[in-house]
Amino acid sequence: MPVSLYGLTRAELAAQVAAWGFSPVHAARLWRYLYWECAKSLEAMPKLPGKVRAKLAAEASLGALPIARELHSSDGFTRKFLLELADGRKIETVLMRFTGRVTACVSSQAGCAMGCVFCATGQAGFERHLEAGEIVAQAVHVNRILRAERTGSAIPRLRNVVLMGQGEPLHNYEAVMRAAAILRDPNGLSLGPDRITLSTVGVVPGIRRLAAERAGVHLAVSLHAATQEERAALVPVARRWPLDELMAACREYSAATGRRIFYEWTLIAGRNDGPEQAHAVGRLLRGMPAQVNLIPLNPTGGYAGEPADRTAARRFQDVLTEYGLPSTVRQRRGIDIAAGCGQLAGAARA
Ligand code: SF4
Repeated sequence: MPVSLYGLTRAELAAQVAAWGFSPVHAARLWRYLYWECAKSLEAMPKLPGKVRAKLAAEASLGALPIARELHSSDGFTRKFLLELADGRKIETVLMRFTGRVTACVSSQAGCAMGCVFCATGQAGFERHLEAGEIVAQAVHVNRILRAERTGSAIPRLRNVVLMGQGEPLHNYEAVMRAAAILRDPNGLSLGPDRITLSTVGVVPGIRRLAAERAGVHLAVSLHAATQEERAALVPVARRWPLDELMAACREYSAATGRRIFYEWTLIAGRNDGPEQAHAVGRLLRGMPAQVNLIPLNPTGGYAGEPADRTAARRFQDVLTEYGLPSTVRQRRGIDIAAGCGQLAGAARA
């Protein structure tokens, strides 16, 4: 098995280069090529001696992910990539521009086993876990795109990574946390703990583990319903980890880390966008360190629901404010390029 370079921390890369018999200078240079230059191939690393490049060609995989397909949203804010893994599987990565900052939305698995009814990835099923290097390579890909877009001398930088693409990050805990550690390296992409957000549909043991390890990531929990019955209908995993267990784990996480949790709420017209649901959320989260992110549904072929309209979203927010809960309504970025998780990969499979 070739060594996956993007799957190694800086210390591990230095140890590997030393084990190959090369000097620390070459390790430092290689690291800079990987994360500062975002080099796409060994040929793009001219300052490494030929013998080092030959060793890398024989024993390592660089892991840059080729683009199988790319779409640009009409508003110019979003670019969505279908990237190809070494085994031919395809995953989605999205570059999103918000005022003054760029966020990469990356996948943690090819497919997903969680089966959320309104999600294109959930509808398609699970393929495999991604390795840490495959997660890191997606963030590097977005940074490479930014570097290529630069005008003038200032090099734009990736500011945030959200693990909200395909897959359930806490179902692939080890690889995700290894990737987060590599992304945080101050001499690499330098994404501090406040710049990485992991989104879970409610895998309770994973949340407890994040709390116990005081993991350096933000946590977003996809709630979508404030009663056990309604949640289990939208998010099958809720049958395994019911709402009361989920909320207990969330309290544990906030108490251990001092961090507030983002609660994601996909607003589905006529299903969970009414004032009674908003009051139920208010009662559930009152007094907790929480922010609610309301996201109008991205319609998918396998689910008949429609997105809530602006008026319903605003009304929902007003109720949350009564409970002292901060909230945002997410802009529906890239709706014209199937930016909802799994939609582009699904279109490629069709
Ligand atoms: S919403 Fe997330 S957790 Fe649910 S099926 Fe889709 S990818 Fe998996």
